[in-house]
Amino acid sequence: MDKVVVTWDYKSQKLEDRKSKITRCFKTCLRCRVIKPIYQFSKDKRNTNGRTSVCKKCRIIEYLKYYQENRDRILIMHKKYQDDHKGIRTRYYQDYQEKNREKLQKLASEWYQANKEAIKKRNLEYYNANKEICNKRKELWRENNKEKIKKYNREYRRTHK
Ligand SMILES: [Zn+2]
Repeated sequence: MDKVVVTWDYKSQKLEDRKSKITRCFKTCLRCRVIKPIYQFSKDKRNTNGRTSVCKKCRIIEYLKYYQENRDRILIMHKKYQDDHKGIRTRYYQDYQEKNREKLQKLASEWYQANKEAIKKRNLEYYNANKEICNKRKELWRENNKEKIKKYNREYRRTHK
C-alpha cells in the first residue's frame, strides 16, 4: 500500500513538473486562443512572464488592421514628424558630412567589404527567423515610400536604357 502511494506521489510530481515546464515553454494567445511556443510571443518586460499576451502573428494583423483604418492619419503624422525634425540636423553635422563625404563613403565601404559575409549571414539568419515580420515591414515601407520608389524606378530606367 505504501508503495502505491509513493508511486502516485512520484507520478503527480512528474506531472506537475511537466505542467510547469509546459507553461514556461508555451503560452495561449489572448487573441487567437491558440497555444503557441513562447518564442512566438514578443519579449515584453512589463508582462509577468516576460512576453506579450498576444502572439506575434496576431500583433502584426492587429497593427495592419490599425494601419489600414488609420492610414491617412499615420501618414500625416509621419510627414509632420519628418517636417518637424528637418531642422534638427545641426549645421555642424551637415558641414562635417559634406567636407568628409569621400572619406566617410570610403570608410563605410571598407567596413562593408571587411564584414560582407558576416553581414549577409546575419541578415539572412534574421530574415529566416522573422520572415513574416520582415515581409510585412517591407510592405509597409513600400506603402510609405511610394513616391521615392517611383522616382528611383524612373531614374533607373533613364540611366539603364
Ligand atoms: Zn495569436
